[in-house]
Amino acid sequence: MFLHARSVQEAPATPSPGELGNNVDSGDESSESNLDHQEGHFGYTTEQEIERAVQECKAAILESERSSDERRRLVRRLVELRLHRLELREGAAPLPEGARRLRGHLLQPQRVSRRREYCDQCAGVIVALVHLWYTCQGCGLHAHAACLEAVRRNCAVERVQDEPEYDLRICPERGLSHQQFKCAECGRRVMPEPDYQMTGLPSGDPSVYSPRLCDYTGLYFCSVCHWDDRAVVPGRVIHNWDFDKYSVSCGTRQYLELMCGKPVLDVEKANPFLFNFVDELRHVKKLREEMMLMKQYFLSCRAALESRILLAFGGRQYFVESSHLYSMRDLMEVRSGQLLAFLLAVHAKFAKHIREECEACRGKGHICEVCAGDEVLFAFDAHVVPCPRCGRVMHQHCYVRRDGQCPRCARIDARQQGQADGERTAATDGGVTGRSGEVDRDGTAVAGGHVKGEQGQIDT
Ligand SMILES: [Zn+2]
Ligand SMILES: [Zn+2]
Ligand SMILES: [Zn+2]
Ligand SMILES: [Zn+2]
Ligand SMILES: [Zn+2]
Ligand SMILES: [Zn+2]
Repeated sequence: MFLHARSVQEAPATPSPGELGNNVDSGDESSESNLDHQEGHFGYTTEQEIERAVQECKAAILESERSSDERRRLVRRLVELRLHRLELREGAAPLPEGARRLRGHLLQPQRVSRRREYCDQCAGVIVALVHLWYTCQGCGLHAHAACLEAVRRNCAVERVQDEPEYDLRICPERGLSHQQFKCAECGRRVMPEPDYQMTGLPSGDPSVYSPRLCDYTGLYFCSVCHWDDRAVVPGRVIHNWDFDKYSVSCGTRQYLELMCGKPVLDVEKANPFLFNFVDELRHVKKLREEMMLMKQYFLSCRAALESRILLAFGGRQYFVESSHLYSMRDLMEVRSGQLLAFLLAVHAKFAKHIREECEACRGKGHICEVCAGDEVLFAFDAHVVPCPRCGRVMHQHCYVRRDGQCPRCARIDARQQGQADGERTAATDGGVTGRSGEVDRDGTAVAGGHVKGEQGQIDT
């Protein structure tokens, strides 16, 4: 799914910590709380104190405007706070043999390698058997042992926790000057290369890198932090139904890979028009909505619970919880047709249980309120509509024929009206007037059950 095109510039020796500016986005905003610059654990010494600061920061994030600079700043602060909390905790928690904890990464020492690996810090080749190197168990970051201390990228596992929702803007670029011409991750200087032949200058400054744009964040990175990896970008999918792969930074690629299976996209909310243009998506949506209705049958069916029929969604159990959230993987599979095929199979299995295999579920079907035909109707059937008031299911054409009037609700209204009239008459006459002997036909559901307490009720 993710291409890994590598075209790294010749990287100079690892910059000294002094050379490495703060993360440009976080380093120089005057509005930042001075807590961010205190030494050690932000001045917090106990886990409870940090915990409180984390909760405060979370609350501030919720209050801040979505996608605003303020929210980004707060999110970064939260990342730092969590890292410090982690460090405090890890002081006590034992790490696996030889493992190290750094910026949220759980780094395991490695010796051999099946394929060629590169160091995420210096972009140099890792020569197995020669170098001691580490790999993060969470995000897959690699680094020479000698480069570990200089790693500036926080673990993508943490980033997933802190940015559980995608930024759906399409490449929100603000320009290099907004980043003070520094790499958005490590702070190395980035500047477009002048044409040395044209200018007649000898050669470029080796400490200045040419900037690379990350299509997801809209930020510029140096060639050590951005290897021209390609990824499908959520914002482009949601707004353009565009599944081309765009150039992203290494950290973003790791983040997008970890996020890929998470159901966090509310497509209806983000771009409701998408359903008008993408037939497969509309079809998938309809199937999911119908299956949510089917779920209601299973929840009260012992056979369904015992056979664990709702586990048919496999790794997509969120399909049982709601019908509107999608993961990026879902959308990719909508496009390839895989998801539709999968859902059609599950839908058929569910429908077979309710209509054919299970007497209890079949018994919860309805008879059309309007035509009272023989056909047993279910809420998830394609050609039926439920009454918006009482939920009783009718044929769509019958409902339309009655101008959207539900016969059952009409009866109830008439009865209540009669009752009110009767009471008024009784009040004026001082006597008791019997009401009409209308027989309520509410007991039409097959095998009862569905209309408990109303069946065969005769109103006199
Ligand atoms: Zn290295
Ligand atoms: Zn990691
Ligand atoms: Zn960088
Ligand atoms: Zn059943
Ligand atoms: Zn009908
Ligand atoms: Zn009704």
